[in-house]
Amino acid sequence: MSLRIRHPYIDDGFQWLKGNLHTHTTNSDGARAPQACVNAYAALGHDFLMISDHDCLTDPATLNSNGIILIPGYEITANGPHLLHVNAPARLDPVENRQEVIDAVRGIGGFAIMCHPNWEEHFNHCPQEKLAAWQGYAGIEICNGVCVLSEGSGLALDRWDMLLSAGREVWGYATDDTHGTHTEGNAWTVVQALERSVEGVVEALVKGRCYASTGVTIERIELEDQAIRIVAPNADRIDAIGDFQRMAETFRGPEASFQCSSEDIHSYVRFECHGPEGAMAWTQPFFIER
Ligand SMILES: [Zn+2]
Ligand SMILES: [Zn+2]
Repeated sequence: MSLRIRHPYIDDGFQWLKGNLHTHTTNSDGARAPQACVNAYAALGHDFLMISDHDCLTDPATLNSNGIILIPGYEITANGPHLLHVNAPARLDPVENRQEVIDAVRGIGGFAIMCHPNWEEHFNHCPQEKLAAWQGYAGIEICNGVCVLSEGSGLALDRWDMLLSAGREVWGYATDDTHGTHTEGNAWTVVQALERSVEGVVEALVKGRCYASTGVTIERIELEDQAIRIVAPNADRIDAIGDFQRMAETFRGPEASFQCSSEDIHSYVRFECHGPEGAMAWTQPFFIER
């Protein structure tokens, strides 16, 4: 039986661009002024940056980009679970009904990423029932760097796998959510961009043509026949993860070649690359249809 395998990646005609979508400045509760933040991420070698203050949109035109692609956005904060409004031409009213907010975000040409679901002492900043009920958001923060300094967990792979296992097609993103300098650059997202521009980065992000990282670099993500090949030069192990976070296979070293088979029970498979000092990278899911 032949399988239909869907995934967001492309083989060529793109450039890898790395960036952070969740950055606080003195426009809310961050330590650095917006321009100092832009300069710091330029020095880190980031290609794109979204300043995302709490319910406050910073106009990128007021800043010297320093060669970084500045994506307009902010973090919708008041009245409910936080979400990033990416590619925001204007600030929206943070009403309690987050479905209305997500719809409004899309209505003006942006997209939504639900933030740090496992943050706070109860590890439940954003309840799973809500993530399951809301429609139209692009994905969730599977890794939020500032949560290492805070209560709860910055990782939300559990939430992601529950959504994916229920048949939802939502993407995983990593951000550092920096408020000072301690976590600056400790998590990021890398896109396959068709062009080096706001439009190029946003298009790749919303389509899931990206991977999330805390330090592992993925060089190749490709599908040939029914084999998925991942090359991550600084990984020493790559795990293939399927429905409900079941381990489908594990590969030693920097390359994985996962053969999808009709006998397999997985409706999707995604890859976690483990590298030095706990660094990781996460691909988006490959959906397997029989
Ligand atoms: Zn937040
Ligand atoms: Zn934040």
